[in-house]
Amino acid sequence: MKKYNFFAGPAILPQSVLQKASEAALSFGDMGLSILEISHRSKEFTAVLEEARALAKELLGFGDDYETLFLQGGASSQFFMIPMNLLNEGETAAYVDTGNWSAKAINEVENFGNLKKLASSKDENYTYIPKGYDIPSDAKYLHLTSNNTIYGTQHHSFPDTDVPLVCDMSSDIFSRPIPTDKFGLIYAGAQKNMGPAGTTLVIVRKDVLGKVQRKIPTMLDYNTHIGKASAFNTPPVFPIYVSLLTMRWVKEMGGVGQMELHNEEKGSLLYDEIDRNPLFVGTARKEDRSLMNVPFVMAPGYEALETEFLERCTNAGCMGVKGYRTVGGFRASIYNAMTKEGISKLVELMQAFENEKG
Ligand SMILES: *Cc1c(COP(=O)(O)O)cnc(C)c1O
Repeated sequence: MKKYNFFAGPAILPQSVLQKASEAALSFGDMGLSILEISHRSKEFTAVLEEARALAKELLGFGDDYETLFLQGGASSQFFMIPMNLLNEGETAAYVDTGNWSAKAINEVENFGNLKKLASSKDENYTYIPKGYDIPSDAKYLHLTSNNTIYGTQHHSFPDTDVPLVCDMSSDIFSRPIPTDKFGLIYAGAQKNMGPAGTTLVIVRKDVLGKVQRKIPTMLDYNTHIGKASAFNTPPVFPIYVSLLTMRWVKEMGGVGQMELHNEEKGSLLYDEIDRNPLFVGTARKEDRSLMNVPFVMAPGYEALETEFLERCTNAGCMGVKGYRTVGGFRASIYNAMTKEGISKLVELMQAFENEKG
């Protein structure tokens, strides 16, 4: 039976990427060796790394003043590396709290400098994106989480400010165009929308670095990795290669502009059904709904049917639809690689359930 991967992360990758990745695991190009066993200094891997670094910037439209890195330690290590590299003691960084991942980033700031939390949507279980807050002009940067993987909210615009934005894009990188000029640094763990777990993409504008006085451990200093073209030590060869395959796929599909149209179409299919079907309700505020993670619950009066609907999904090959424990219900993650066919399958299940139980 064909299975559809709705898991939040590690998550779905395009079928053609998986095919090419598995071929490279046996023999990479014409090397006669697996990509898993070649030197990270070989000319073949050096070419992969160079292309991956360039293509990440090209897809999003970042210019020459930005550097691309593929680091380890997950997006979670960026939570502390950012203030460690960007914030002096006594200086202030601004943060907006839109979910568990933002909150974890916020937790690290005061190890290095002052925290100013500008807004939070925790008061309504993170079902919306705060807007219209004041941004202090002396803040070194403003940290946002563009897409909230757990709560299914997404920034559909970014604040107008001269303060450089720093943004966790782990769960919506390459899903749409972004206003590159606003960002001092963006980062994304690979395993949601880009590749397997094991590498984190960082794109940073060089002028935000080199301004802190503290001594930064070598491996945690962005400039160490910039100076060595992201190969200071052994980089995660395979996750970078698979991420490159995915980026090439995004380019073949027409780039992030086309991805956005494809994601909007998919999102409408599912959200229209959630809004139409009397058995289900969406949990995020409509204007802030995510096109990557779609949380919904059984409508009042139908709560007892939750487990049964989940079973239907699993039996029909729609995997990973169970909601996060603090939200409950269901979450369909519909990243770039999810097809319209996969969404139609889920919509059919919702309609069949309505016909039977409604
Ligand atoms: C998954 C996720 C993270 C954590 O990523 P790790 O690579 O596991 O550290 C951080 N931020 C967001 C938005 C995520 O979705």
